[in-house]
Formats: sequence, C-alpha cells, structure tokens
Amino acid sequence: MSFLDYDFMRRALVAALLVGLAAPTVGVYLVQRRLSLIGDGLGHVALTGVALGLLTSTEPVLTALVVAALGATAIELVRARGRTSGDVALAVMFYGGLAGGVVIVSRAPGGTPTNFDAYLFGAITTTSGRDLVVFAALAVAVLVVTLGLAPRLFAVSNDEEYARAAGLPVLALNVLLAVTTALTVVVSMRVVGLLLISALMVLPVATAQLLQGSFRGTLALAVLVGVVVSTGGVVVSYQADTPSGGTIVLLAIALFALAAAWAGLRDRRRAGGHEEAEDHLHRHGPGCGHEEVVHDDHLDYVHDGHRHAAHGGHYDEH
Ligand SMILES: [Zn+2]
Ligand SMILES: [Zn+2]
Ligand SMILES: [Zn+2]
Ligand SMILES: [Zn+2]
Repeated sequence: MSFLDYDFMRRALVAALLVGLAAPTVGVYLVQRRLSLIGDGLGHVALTGVALGLLTSTEPVLTALVVAALGATAIELVRARGRTSGDVALAVMFYGGLAGGVVIVSRAPGGTPTNFDAYLFGAITTTSGRDLVVFAALAVAVLVVTLGLAPRLFAVSNDEEYARAAGLPVLALNVLLAVTTALTVVVSMRVVGLLLISALMVLPVATAQLLQGSFRGTLALAVLVGVVVSTGGVVVSYQADTPSGGTIVLLAIALFALAAAWAGLRDRRRAGGHEEAEDHLHRHGPGCGHEEVVHDDHLDYVHDGHRHAAHGGHYDEH
C-alpha cells in the first residue's frame, strides 16, 4: 500500500504544496526588507488565536487568521509611527503571543499546553478536508498579492524612502504585505507549524539568492525549492515517522548548505571577474531619485547603502 492510498496523506501533500508555493513568495520580500523574523513573530501571535479557537470551540484556523492579521496590522502601524522600534514591537509579539496562547489554552475545556504541539511543529495527519479548502483560498489570495503587486512590493521592500518619493502608498503596501504574511502563517500551521514557518519563508529565498542574481530568478527558484522541500518533507516524515514541520525545515537547511557549498566553489572559479550588485526592477537613470556620483567615465547611483552602475543587463558594485 502506497502512502497515496491514504486520504490524510493526499490532503497533507496538497497542503504542503500550498505552503511551498506561498511561503517563499512572501519570504522574498521579507528577506529584502531584512524582516525575516516577522513571520516568526506572527506565528507566535497566531498561537493566541489557536488558543482562542480551542477555548471557544470555534475553528482554530479562523481564530488564528483573525488574530494574526490584527497582529500584522498592529506591527506595521507601530513601525510607521516610529515611537517604538520595530525590534521591541517584534519582541512584544513573540512573548505576548506565546504567553497569551499558553494562558488561554489552559482555560479551554480539557486544554493543556500539549494540545499546542500539532500547531507549534506541524502534524500532517491533522489537516481536514475543510481546512484544505480554507488553506487553498488563502494561498490563492497570497499569490495574487505577492505576484500581482510584485513591482510595487519590490519597490517598497527594496527602498522605502525611494518608494515614498515615487508616490507609492508605502504604509498600505507594508500593511498588505504583513497581512499576507499572516495568511501564510495560518496556511502553514498544520504542515510546518507556527514556530517553524518562518524557516520556510526565509531558507528557500536564501538558497535561491546564492544561485540567482535577478529578483525574478530568485523568486522562481525560491518557489521551486519551497515546493520540493515541503512536499518532500511530508513524504520523508511519513516514511521516517517524524514530525512534518521539523523534517521540512531540516531538508530546507540541507539544500541551503549544498547551495552555499556550490556557490563558494563557483565564486572561487570566477575570482578575477567583477562583482555584480543584486538586480532590481527599479532602473537607475538621470533623475531616478537616487544620488548620482561621477565615477571615471560613468555615473554610479547611491542605493541602499552602496554604489553601483549599469553594465549590460545588470549593475556592477563600485
Ligand atoms: Zn535609482
Ligand atoms: Zn562606478
Ligand atoms: Zn540600485
Ligand atoms: Zn558587469
């Protein structure tokens, strides 16, 4: 009997596929913004939502969704007001979410902190058919936002100051990205678990960045890596009888290590060539909003703390 004969395994694989698609498309912007940990913070906040669901005997998926989305909006508003540093706001989310979850679940009928295990670290067998419908709808919403608004989200994530100068609704885009992150966290909670989802947002992107120079290339490869490790991890966890979330994350780390080793070899071979800056959708040019610096026979543009100049289809770091 193959594992595909089991209904719960088929559901687990579909859920894993959804997570593998959605997590890196959000993660690519979080990595760009150097906010990799926001997914983790929202995972902790979602725990309070899960606990509320258990306490009130409603769907934990839906209560987690509402609480995580509210948390996501709150952190962006706090960041935008600028009175509390993003760092502190994130810490409040981490500890408040976990503490709220543990306290609330202890009041739930028959609730113990161990009821959390399936949500914390993922448990593939717990995905119901109803969950799957909700997850699929959320994953589609995530993909519509992350792919449909790619140029805008990229601009805001890459250089907030520049995006503001260009007239983009920075706060609205940041809130949208944060809420999209919250949706992804909820989609992942059965497969990867709330404490490990951030790894699946970040690791495939980090792996892809080692191998791909352009934003589009990174995004495409990150999604491929995400799908391979999430579905592969579910299969391995079934065969090895291990928790799905931890297995998926270890697989993602193994791929990252392989890519890092390969990139190291490649860079040694390439030494003597030139250093390329990351590619970006924004094209520098006269009056593009970035400071121009005359450098020998060309202009460099000051961008995100470094200087680069157009060269062929890419930028060179100077
Ligand atoms: Zn520019
Ligand atoms: Zn130059
Ligand atoms: Zn640039
Ligand atoms: Zn070049």
